[in-house]
Order: sequence, then C-alpha cells, then structure tokens
Amino acid sequence: MENCLFCKIAAGEIPSNKVYEDDTVLAFHDIAPVAPVHVLVIPKAHIACGVCELNSDNAAVVGHLFSVIPSIAEKLGITDYRVVTNNGEEAGQTVGHLHFHILGGRRLGEMG
Ligand code: AMP
Ligand code: ZN
Repeated sequence: MENCLFCKIAAGEIPSNKVYEDDTVLAFHDIAPVAPVHVLVIPKAHIACGVCELNSDNAAVVGHLFSVIPSIAEKLGITDYRVVTNNGEEAGQTVGHLHFHILGGRRLGEMG
C-alpha cells in the first residue's frame, strides 16, 4: 500500500530495529517506547484500519501473528506483558496498518 509507513518498514524501505521476521510477520522496536520493552508486531501485508478490517480472509495471518508473540516475548526477556491494539483515532491509533503493541519490562498501569 502506497504511503503506508508500516508497509514501507515491512518492505525495508524505512529502517526498523527488528526483533523477529518471517514470511508474513515482522516485529520491531517502537520508535517512541512507552515501556522498557515496546515492540510492534505487524502483518507484512497491508491490513488497513485495524481490528475493524479483520475477517475470515485474513484470520490466518492474524492467528499466525499471535502464535509468534510468546517466542518474541521470550527473546525480549519478558514473561509478563500486555498485547494491545488501538482501533480508531479516539482509541489512539495513528498508523492505519494493523499492528499489535507488546508492552512490558515494568509494572503496567490500569487499562484505559
Ligand atoms: P498506534 O498509535 O497504536 O497506531 O501505534 C503506532 C506506533 O508506531 C506508535 O507507538 C509510534 O511510536 C510507532 N511508530 C511510528 N513511526 C515508527 C517508526 N518509524 N518505527 C517504529 N515505530 C514507529
Ligand atoms: Zn500498510
């Protein structure tokens, strides 16, 4: 997808500090971390919007994405962490390509 920041990162056109990569998923450190560990996990293929674009056609890639999160967390040295996605501007979403935040490395506050 043209002009999508995370598509450009997935394609290697914009550099990222990679933590994990396979054919369909990329994980990299967030550029503005809000916790000692703050990693983004994205599908390499553009899924617009966020959770609102999920359906039976892209469920497999999302399932795969979640299946690699435990090993990413282990690699990052955290056992306690939060996986978050922001859907929509009011929820804090700033990039329109599906992504999940892995947050950890400190005691996390209440949700909301
Ligand atoms: P969200 O606000 O939930 O859409 O999450 C987007 C995240 O992308 C934010 O936490 C940003 O700090 C992060 N971000 C923006 N640009 C980059 C970049 N070039 N490399 C890594 N993370 C980025
Ligand atoms: Zn994209």
